[in-house]
Amino acid sequence: MVTEIKGKVIKGLGGLYTVRESGTDDARLYTARAKGVLHRDDEKLLVGDDVVVTVDDSVPDGVVISDLLPRKNALIRPPVSNIDYLFIVFAAKKPAPVLEVVDKLTAIAIHNSITPVIIITKSDLSATLAEEYRAIYSCAGFDTFVVSAESGEGVSRVEEYMRSALSGGKTGAFAGASGVGKSTLMNALFPHLLLSTGDVSKKIERGKHTTRHVEIFDAFSDGFIADTPGFSLVDFARFDFFVLDELFATFPDIIPYAAGCTYSDCSHVGEGADECAVARAAKEGKIAESRLESYRSVWRTLKAKSGY
Ligand code: GDP
Ligand code: ZN
Repeated sequence: MVTEIKGKVIKGLGGLYTVRESGTDDARLYTARAKGVLHRDDEKLLVGDDVVVTVDDSVPDGVVISDLLPRKNALIRPPVSNIDYLFIVFAAKKPAPVLEVVDKLTAIAIHNSITPVIIITKSDLSATLAEEYRAIYSCAGFDTFVVSAESGEGVSRVEEYMRSALSGGKTGAFAGASGVGKSTLMNALFPHLLLSTGDVSKKIERGKHTTRHVEIFDAFSDGFIADTPGFSLVDFARFDFFVLDELFATFPDIIPYAAGCTYSDCSHVGEGADECAVARAAKEGKIAESRLESYRSVWRTLKAKSGY
C-alpha cells in the first residue's frame, strides 16, 4: 500500500532527513532520503521545510520525501526555513543595546513574513532603562517583554506567550548580540536544549564544532525552536532583495502617519515637520526618535546602494 503523509523536516544529516508528521498529537517520525529532484541546488531541502513523505510498504526502503511544499522564508546560516517568530533579545545594559541593529532585525523579519517579538533582558541591572526600551518597542506596536534571569521577573509571561504563539506547529528563532542572555533565557524556557551560558571557552568550542547537524527542537506542545543563538542580519536569504522601495512597509510605526505628508513622494528623511507628518509625529512623541533615526539610516544605506 502507498500512503502520503504531510510533515516537517526537523533534522538533516548527510542527506538523511528526519520528518515529523504534522497535525496529529502522536506524530510519527520518518527517516528518509529525498527524491532525486529535491537534491537540485536550487531546491535543496532545508530543516523547517514542510514536505510530503510517500510510504510504499510493498518494497524495502519504501519511504521517500516526494514533494517540497512552498516555503515562506529561508535563512542561510543556519539553513532553516519557515520561521514564524523572531525573538529579538537585547539587554537593558551590559551590553548596552545598539537600537539600529534591533530596528534592522525587526525590518528584516517583517520583510520575510516573520513576526518580530522584543525581549529585553537583565532588568535587574536597570529597571529604568528596561522600561525606557519597553516603551519604545511597545509604542511601535511590537509584542515586548522585560525579563530578568536574576530575579525571575517576566520569564513566565514570555513562556506563556511562546506557548500560545508556537502552537499549531509554528517555528521560532532567537536573535541578538552575544552576552545579552539568550542562552540563559532559552535554558529557562527549554531546559532540554542544555545550552552553555556565559562560559566563553565552552561557547567557542561549540561554535567551532562546524560539522554539527542542523536541527529544530520541540517547543512546548507542538511548536519548534531553532537552536541558533544569534544569527546575523546578512543571514537572511532575501536580504539582498531588500530594496529602497520595500523599506517603508517594514516600519509599521511610521506607516500610519505618511498619508499626512505634504508631498505624496515624501521620503520622511530630510523634510522638516512642516512638510513631513512623520517628522511631526516623532516631534510629538508618537513615533520614537530612535526608530525614525534607524529608518533614516537604513534609507540612506539603501539609497546609496541603489545608485540613483
Ligand atoms: P548569550 O551570549 O546571549 O547567550 O548570553 P548568556 O546567556 O551566555 O549570558 C551572558 C551573561 O549574562 C552570563 O554571565 C549570564 O549569567 C548573564 N545574564 C543572563 N541573563 C541575565 C539577567 O537577566 N541578569 C543579569 N544580571 N545577568 C544575566
Ligand atoms: Zn514624510
